Amino acid sequence: DPARPFNLTEVIERSVNWVRKASPERFQVDLDLPKHINVMGSSGQIQQVVMNLVQNACDATAEMAKPRLEIRAERAGDSVVIRFRDNGPGIPPENLPHIFEPFFTTKPVGKGTGLGLTISYGLVEKHGGRLEAANAPEGGALFTLSLPLGRPCS
Ligand code: ADP
Ligand code: MG
Repeated sequence: DPARPFNLTEVIERSVNWVRKASPERFQVDLDLPKHINVMGSSGQIQQVVMNLVQNACDATAEMAKPRLEIRAERAGDSVVIRFRDNGPGIPPENLPHIFEPFFTTKPVGKGTGLGLTISYGLVEKHGGRLEAANAPEGGALFTLSLPLGRPCS
């Protein structure tokens, strides 16, 4: 789909609802987003990115008593920064340099292809943004998605 302005908040909400439909009831997603975040590009491609991040968080927290994902937006100059923090076990430091590589997966055969983050990284880069992985100081994985802001429509 062509580059058009779209509301990133709507795309995130749609992605969360979609993944949640196929997730256990107890997987809790907390959103802290403004009503409107104007971004340029392909909403379908960014939806693919967000859906993969939410699905990964759901998979990673499956064994927790209260599986939880927090999605927060913050403005940083001409960009919007979206942080995805889950309360799973986090990413082992030795895996961190590899998770964006094609076919890297720690999931059982048939469950993961190891392509989600590779594809996501490319799609975000194509939008002039960045996708970074880390562990949160409080524990759990922390993915940071930055995208250039579009001009707000007048
Ligand atoms: P897949 O989901 O098919 O395994 P991805 O490219 O989406 O492929 O993710 C690659 C790997 O990165 C996962 O198998 C997992 O080891 C790690 N990973 C991704 N997201 C998380 C997360 N939220 N918590 C812990 N590990 C993660
Ligand atoms: Mg994945």
